Amino acid sequence: MSFDATSRRSDELPVRDRLVVLGSGGFHPAYGRQTMCFLLHLDGAPLLLDAGTGLSRLGEADVARQLDEVERLDIVLSHYHLDHVVGLTYLSGVWRRPCRIFAPAPPLVDAEPAEALRRLIAPPLFPASLDQLPQPVEIVPYDGDFSVAGLEVRVRRQRHPGGSVGMRLGDRIAYVTDTACEAATGELAAGATWLLHEVWCDRAEAEEEPGLVLGHSAAEDVHALARECGAAHLVPVHHHPKRDARELGEFLDRLAATSVRSGDPVVKPLLDGQSVGL
Ligand SMILES: [Zn+2]
Ligand SMILES: [Zn+2]
Repeated sequence: MSFDATSRRSDELPVRDRLVVLGSGGFHPAYGRQTMCFLLHLDGAPLLLDAGTGLSRLGEADVARQLDEVERLDIVLSHYHLDHVVGLTYLSGVWRRPCRIFAPAPPLVDAEPAEALRRLIAPPLFPASLDQLPQPVEIVPYDGDFSVAGLEVRVRRQRHPGGSVGMRLGDRIAYVTDTACEAATGELAAGATWLLHEVWCDRAEAEEEPGLVLGHSAAEDVHALARECGAAHLVPVHHHPKRDARELGEFLDRLAATSVRSGDPVVKPLLDGQSVGL
């Protein structure tokens, strides 16, 4: 796979205005990829997008260094499937300071935030309840647009079992995962500099196994969406765990090769441990 010069290890760029990939995988960790978690430094205020197993990387030195000055960490969840929330159970090990969890509520998803999170972080699944963690954890339910870390966040419910939330964070970023590829995403992502969108499979795989695109997206459809909505960069995320590094590289290279016209989105592969200046 080829990376351009802006894809570097996460400790080589200034912290400001940077996206750091802590976990880019869907469903379960595989071939060294953790599940969904992104550290977003935008206008200096850091936040996490989703809290999959990649959240464990908050404890790794190069990531911890970036958060030295942060007194309270904001975490924004897209939905409650384990590959997006299980990392919350690692918080007491890797993040000892306060945090706020922005958690989707009906009608955006079919679950109540406090109930969902208290079920995850409580005996017998976890030795302590949410209130007994060493640091204060505040649940901030959202059922529509909200603001976090100085960013206005626009949201929409997506087509995924139980619901999931697609979001536009400020002008530059759209985060769209765990969803069938939907034309309505185009309005949310219109003109974004960076569209992070899931690519669970490609069309050939979906034809062979139609279940793959029930609540998920084929890469070619995502590319067409990114082209139509005028996104400058497409960052494919939520990778299928069946792909090893070589297969994933080939999959992403095929996707990048479809950007041939002027104005097409630049496909920007970013895998775990990598980061990009925004
Ligand atoms: Zn997922
Ligand atoms: Zn999901």
